[in-house]
Amino acid sequence: MENKKVAVKKNTLARPPVVTILGHVDHGKTTLLDYIRKTKVTQEEHGGITQHIGAYQIVDRGQTITFIDTPGHEAFSSMRSRGANVTDVAILVVAADDGVMPQTKESIAHIKAANVPMIVAINKMDLPTANVDRVKKGLSETGVLVEGYGGDVVALPISAKTGQGVDELLEMVTLVAELAELKDESDQPFEAVVIESSLDRFRGPLATILIKKGKLRVGDEIKTLKAAGKVKALISTTGEKLKEATISQPVKVLGFEKAPAVGEVATIGKKELLVEQEAPRTKRPLFEEQADGLSRINLIIKADVAGSLEAITAALENLSTQQSKVNIISQETGDITESDVLLAASTGAIIIGFGVKLPKNVSDLAEEEKVMVRSFDLIYELLSELKEGLESLAEGKKEQVLGKADVIATFDTSWGRIAGVKVVEGRLAKNDRINLYRNEEKTGPSRIKSIRHLQEEVNLAKEGGEYGLLLDGKVEFAVGDIIEAVS
Ligand code: GDP
Repeated sequence: MENKKVAVKKNTLARPPVVTILGHVDHGKTTLLDYIRKTKVTQEEHGGITQHIGAYQIVDRGQTITFIDTPGHEAFSSMRSRGANVTDVAILVVAADDGVMPQTKESIAHIKAANVPMIVAINKMDLPTANVDRVKKGLSETGVLVEGYGGDVVALPISAKTGQGVDELLEMVTLVAELAELKDESDQPFEAVVIESSLDRFRGPLATILIKKGKLRVGDEIKTLKAAGKVKALISTTGEKLKEATISQPVKVLGFEKAPAVGEVATIGKKELLVEQEAPRTKRPLFEEQADGLSRINLIIKADVAGSLEAITAALENLSTQQSKVNIISQETGDITESDVLLAASTGAIIIGFGVKLPKNVSDLAEEEKVMVRSFDLIYELLSELKEGLESLAEGKKEQVLGKADVIATFDTSWGRIAGVKVVEGRLAKNDRINLYRNEEKTGPSRIKSIRHLQEEVNLAKEGGEYGLLLDGKVEFAVGDIIEAVS
């Protein structure tokens, strides 16, 4: 029956969606990936030997779907921390007999930070102890509002063991991907992400890449920041040798001179360009100015007990000022983990530890990822440091004066009232933001709409020169006022 459907329906999406499965340990991620692979991968051509290369593709009702074969948020965020988001749809697996657990919460934080649409798979429905309501309630308490609990996140009951509900889950993946309006960028310059990398004793460095844009052919020069080479062979997930690989396709690449790192972005180009590329990774700033003009300081908080966590978050609320705001990305009890560091790296957050440990491997990773981790034992110390941070942020935002002009005349024209000015310092430019002062008192902000010099329209009013300024909005000005252009 299924085969018939495959024959009539073709891919409806612009390209195969890429799916990652996340969730708490033992909730059934691997079992689900295995079940889908076993039942959906077409294996005719190559004698049924599916290779494990870090991802696989299935065809479900005519739609190709790519699954990342490394479950869990560590893989997900190690890619994201390097700036590469390969996932189009995230499946959050929650075991119905266990409910929302710490790594479920971590996964949710990662998915939200990546801004990827999510489907919840409530797994192990074959067990008599399965309790869907408890899972849904637990999710709503963590801010994931599923259908029936005041939200529209889809939650499907499944069993990765018996296969119950898996078809519906795959159908939902296609539906959610449809809403995400994936683009076919196979005609763009080639770009891929390394999802697995190893050194084979016989074949040398091997890397599995997932193609995000364009195509890759045997013979192409391929490079990442750390490695480069010439593509000798491309091997598909079913062991087939390909001449060319395209968008959303995972392929194993032979030909790198050295194994690239997981999460690196690969492009086509010669090795010589590597030096030029060695630029430091661009990191999101710790203090971020948002479109609304507010500066945000992103925090991941780990505390010893729930009580201190509550006390800290309540106190932090009060720290936010008019210009800057504390934004809590995630808050949990427990020691600081590698996963926290990766989440911090991909969201530009600072990790605050309160009465918790920072294991050596985690602090090493933090150093590598350039993530700031601050540990405290006293709440007031934590608060005073953050307060200082926010203040210096507000300080840093102070306007810079670009130029000053005295208003020496005013003219009423058909386009509006013109301020005749003499530039006494710096310069004033078209579209600059300005502040107006009368007797050292600020009388209003505005913007320079246009500048005239003699009869001509110009872009810049230079020091020493006399100009006519048309200002934006209804602003009052008179001879003797001062106009300051600010950044
Ligand atoms: P992971 O750590 O999330 O990858 O979890 P696994 O896939 O390794 O599964 C953990 C355990 O749960 C294994 O013993 C699985 O056999 C079992 N398991 C997974 N899915 C189901 C299910 O749907 N029903 C039942 N009864 N057991 C399951």
